[in-house]
Formats: sequence, structure tokens, C-alpha cells
Amino acid sequence: MSELVIEGLRAAVAGREILFGVDLVVRSGEVHAVMGPNGAGKSTLSAVLLGHRDYAVLGGSVRLDGRELLGLPTWERAVAGLFLAPQEPTEVPGVPVAAVLAEALRARGRVDDADPDALTRRLAGEAESIGLAPGLLGRPLNVGTSGGERKRVETLQLVALAPRIAVLDELDSGLDVDALRQVARRVAAAVHEPPPGTPGLGVLAITHYNRLLAELRPDAVHLLVNGRIVQSGDAGLAAEIERSGYGAYLPESAVPTRSALDDLFG
Ligand code: ADP
Ligand code: MG
Repeated sequence: MSELVIEGLRAAVAGREILFGVDLVVRSGEVHAVMGPNGAGKSTLSAVLLGHRDYAVLGGSVRLDGRELLGLPTWERAVAGLFLAPQEPTEVPGVPVAAVLAEALRARGRVDDADPDALTRRLAGEAESIGLAPGLLGRPLNVGTSGGERKRVETLQLVALAPRIAVLDELDSGLDVDALRQVARRVAAAVHEPPPGTPGLGVLAITHYNRLLAELRPDAVHLLVNGRIVQSGDAGLAAEIERSGYGAYLPESAVPTRSALDDLFG
């Protein structure tokens, strides 16, 4: 069993505080959804969890199985078992997907899994199950691929590395309905039907849409507004947001009263 404990996390980017004390606990086999309006700080949260250098931590702690992650370089957090599927995956020219995975597996001491033949064999089936052409494994990571392919490649990396806790930042963006179902079901299987003798994946899923959550079956849904979690509930909260929007959770001053077009010229 693993446990990611985020306590009082405060962070800034470009000299401006974005997160004002976030508390969250994600355990093995649990799915926690984080929803919130654009600019609320959702991607900032994911970046800070993995230690992106542009984001300054102002306070709080992030512990994985009791070990403080803040202050560790990103690769050590990843080897410790934390995974991020970023909202906008980075292009890595010249480095094939399979090479990235082999290196990551070796860093985790999984030398047998990193063997090129073993890796190709294992990943071919996985790639097929999420609708990814196996040929993509030999291509440079995220170079010349569509948004949907990138999200599938992120999912493939998640499956291959089998982290303890995964942060998924809008894994559903850019995927068509069928692709979304394939990817979501694969992640759900990692959570709810892990290989025998292993704990289920814990997931922190940042999303705007209920469709992903319908497959992932969240244990809790949290609303992040202006860098604070203002409400937590069950899956019903995500359904309510989809129906009614965030208006009820925004400070009154932030509820738009003018047309967005006015602002373009304001
Ligand atoms: P969300 O993912 O909830 O839409 P973000 O965490 O991406 O929101 O952004 C929160 C705020 O921080 C926004 O105002 C955004 O412009 C700002 N921000 C995020 N990343 C950076 C960055 N690298 N440099 C400057 N500002 C940033
Ligand atoms: Mg974002």
C-alpha cells in the first residue's frame, strides 16, 4: 500500500502565489479527481508535485510513503514511484519512446524489463489495447504526433513503468470518444484490477469532464478554485459541475457579468 500525502502546499510561479495551501491524500487503489476553472492552479499543482524548476515551493509538504519529496530532483521522485502525465507532453527529438522507457526501467533496477526484446514484446500488446500503432515506439517521443497519440503514449509509459501514484493532467484532452474510453479503461484496470500481489495504482486525475471519471470511478472529487480546494465530495460533485458550472464556488467578484468579448477590448 502506498500513500501520497500533500499538506499545506503553497507555491508560486513567476513571482505570483498560485497555490495557497493544498491538502490531499491519495492511496493505492484510489482515484481522486481534481476539477476547477481555467487558471485555478491545477497544472501548477501537478508541476510542483514533480518538482518543475519554474515553480517555487513556499510551504507545506509532499510525502510518498513517509518520504519527503519536496527538494528532491524530479527523477528521484519518479523513481520513488510518482508519475506525471503532463497536460502538454514535451517533444524529445532524437530519443525514441522505447529508449525512454528502457532507461526509466533501468533507473528503477528493472534491468530484465528494459531488455529491448522483452520491452517490445510487452509493449506491443499494451499499445494495441489502447489503440496505439506499435511502430510509434520506435519514433522520437512526442515528435510529429497528434494530441491524441501523445495522450496514448503517456498512458503506455504509465502502464510500462507501473508507478505507485499517477498524476494525470487532462489525460482526456485531445482524445476522441473511443480513444478516451480505451485509455480510461486501461488506467481503471491499473487502479481496480492490478496484477496479483500488487497494490492498485493511486490516481490524482485533473479533468474537466465526467466522461473520464465515469470509467475511473473516483473515490473523491475535489474542486480547486484560486489555488484552494473549496469543496470535496463524491462523484456526484463532478456531475453537478458538469450541469451547473463553477459559478456557485467562485467568489462573487469573479463571476463574469460582462461578455468575454468586452474584455478583449477592455
Ligand atoms: P490550470 O491548470 O488550473 O488551468 P495553471 O496551474 O496552468 O492553471 O495556471 C495557474 C496560473 O499560473 C495561471 O494564471 C497561469 O497563467 C500561471 N502560470 C502557470 N504556469 C506559469 C509559468 N510557467 N509562467 C508564468 N505563469 C504561469
Ligand atoms: Mg492546466
